[in-house]
Amino acid sequence: MFWNSKVTIKNDEEIALMRESGRLLSIVFKELEAYVRPGISTKEIDTFAEKTIRGLGGVPNFLNYEGFPGSVCTSVNDQVVHGIPSEYEILDEGDIISLDCGLIYKGYHSDAARTYGVGKISKEAKDLIDVTRRSFFAGIEKAVAGNRLYDISRAIDDYIAPHGYGIVRELTGHGIGKNLHEEPMIPNYKKLFGRGIKLKAGMTLAIEPMITYGSRRVVWAEDDWTVITEDGSLAAHYENTILVTEGRPEILTLYKE
Ligand code: MG
Ligand code: MG
Repeated sequence: MFWNSKVTIKNDEEIALMRESGRLLSIVFKELEAYVRPGISTKEIDTFAEKTIRGLGGVPNFLNYEGFPGSVCTSVNDQVVHGIPSEYEILDEGDIISLDCGLIYKGYHSDAARTYGVGKISKEAKDLIDVTRRSFFAGIEKAVAGNRLYDISRAIDDYIAPHGYGIVRELTGHGIGKNLHEEPMIPNYKKLFGRGIKLKAGMTLAIEPMITYGSRRVVWAEDDWTVITEDGSLAAHYENTILVTEGRPEILTLYKE
């Protein structure tokens, strides 16, 4: 497993590097959003992502991670996460694509994900994308020093529940810093037992609801990477790296003009 470190509290110097790592990643996503369009392959997106990351002075942290063969995960329609970029997968008008991407800057990782519509998409797809994004913001309302980790999980679950969407349970958010994946694991669903660790200022976390239009059940594709919905329904993903503070959390991977 990749949980190769304890929960860490970042000092001011580390926080400054995390901020810069996040800022650079936010620029990558701004470029990716503009790049996605009908007719391009997911491999072209990957090539563009890697070039953009390196051009900004970052290093792609997904590339070769446990053998992953790309700098960005490209998950189309019923693919939830960890889709492998391919020259044979061409985006069509009406598709949705989740891009999950990260980088390392001076030893510090950032990680974010967005789901984009390709051209004009259905109202159902748009709603799913919007609600997934909003569930992240509902979750991080609780990401305040002194609260408990699972307060975040419950807030995401409570936000999603009235919409009737599925919340993927097999994959979670995570701590992040000198490693892409650090403790703690951050579920996106209500835990029946326990409250999780107490949140402290200086923790940096990647919060990432993965939401399905139908059943929450997922399966792994033949390639052993791509996670897809069991019922073939659409899935959306939204993630940012955040910094826990005594007050409102700071979102490190949101683009600022
Ligand atoms: Mg990610
Ligand atoms: Mg992540």
